Amino acid sequence: MPAARRAELHREMLRDTVRFAYDHAPATRRKMDEAGVRPEDVKEPADLPKIPVTRKADLKHIQKGEPPFGGLAAVPPRGMRRIYVSPGPTFDPEGRDESHWRWEKAFFAAGFREGDIVQNTFNYHFSPAGLMFDEALLRIGCTVIPAGVGNTELQAQVMRELCVTGYVGTVSFLMTILEKTREMGIASGDGLNLQVALVAGEMLPESLRARLRDEFGVQVRQAYGTADVGSLGYECREAAGMHVPDEILLEMIDPATGAAVPAGSIGEVVVTLPNRTYPLVRFATGDLSVLSDAPCPCGRTSPRLLKIVGRVDQVTKVKGMFVHPEQVLQLEGKVGEIASAQFVVTRTGHEDRMEMLIVLKEGIVPGDSLTERIAGAAREITRLGGVVRYVPEEAIGEREKKIIDRRRWD
Ligand SMILES: [Zn+2]
Repeated sequence: MPAARRAELHREMLRDTVRFAYDHAPATRRKMDEAGVRPEDVKEPADLPKIPVTRKADLKHIQKGEPPFGGLAAVPPRGMRRIYVSPGPTFDPEGRDESHWRWEKAFFAAGFREGDIVQNTFNYHFSPAGLMFDEALLRIGCTVIPAGVGNTELQAQVMRELCVTGYVGTVSFLMTILEKTREMGIASGDGLNLQVALVAGEMLPESLRARLRDEFGVQVRQAYGTADVGSLGYECREAAGMHVPDEILLEMIDPATGAAVPAGSIGEVVVTLPNRTYPLVRFATGDLSVLSDAPCPCGRTSPRLLKIVGRVDQVTKVKGMFVHPEQVLQLEGKVGEIASAQFVVTRTGHEDRMEMLIVLKEGIVPGDSLTERIAGAAREITRLGGVVRYVPEEAIGEREKKIIDRRRWD
């Protein structure tokens, strides 16, 4: 879609959605009234910042205050197709529209076609994950095996016996299943026919993508979305960022100030969803990413989310500077001797202190010059000084976190 046409489409969508949400979603009307914004004041995407954001992290509280959907839904529960339950619990409505979650394009871009037999290992219980992908697959003419989570051995057996050609789920579970097929003596060419995979829900390391391609012949593409709004981005054949679907309005903001961030900078993904059941206006997902508007060789002209960098709640301010998990990953990439790193922030008196726990690769001996290099690289990346401490891998607590904030404010 040419950029001018998309801009025009987005203007129309925006006016229509803001008006519709104002008229039908009481919580949106309230937040606009409180901010003194009328629907007719929002004509362009540039007008959106006049309306305050609604934070995903506050949904539980918002819904409790006005059950069940916090005044954000435009129809009563009986007008919905399904209602899901996310951790919290928070409730996620599914409308009766043709494609509420909009994942069809993601599957198509990932190489899924009519006739594919697809094993869907996302959770079908309470969570929308299983069904939202299931529905899109049916709509593009695939056959779905609603496998759900767990049962690795059965998953491996099914993958072979039903000549499964497509997989949907997390990339780590895909690897687990494929390793199980190998263990069970099922190899490519021996009934294993898996060709395409759409993965979501966790980081996709390029090394893992390459292994799945080289060892198992599977083309892996990733997608990004949430239980609230469905598809927010998907990779094309280029696998260089996730194209933002044309049918949503996406902003990137500085989570601290709310100001728009320029293309290429880290910001929080904020969505306005033109949906007649759940017309969210400026829904702040809590996910940090980087948007690129550079043209993609695939021919799609939509901007791309380069990667999901982390969660807003993992961003920490140290000595007045933002530190985020991506910077720890950058440090790991920059100093080849590092196997993994974790930043720990503490406070002595009135002073923040950042300690960098470093696990070195096997066989690497720590020394002053290495310490200097690590501290120098960290300063370049974070613009902060920190203390380097070498630790064994088992000394790192809460390993899934790249930054641990131990400061107490009471
Ligand atoms: Zn592309």
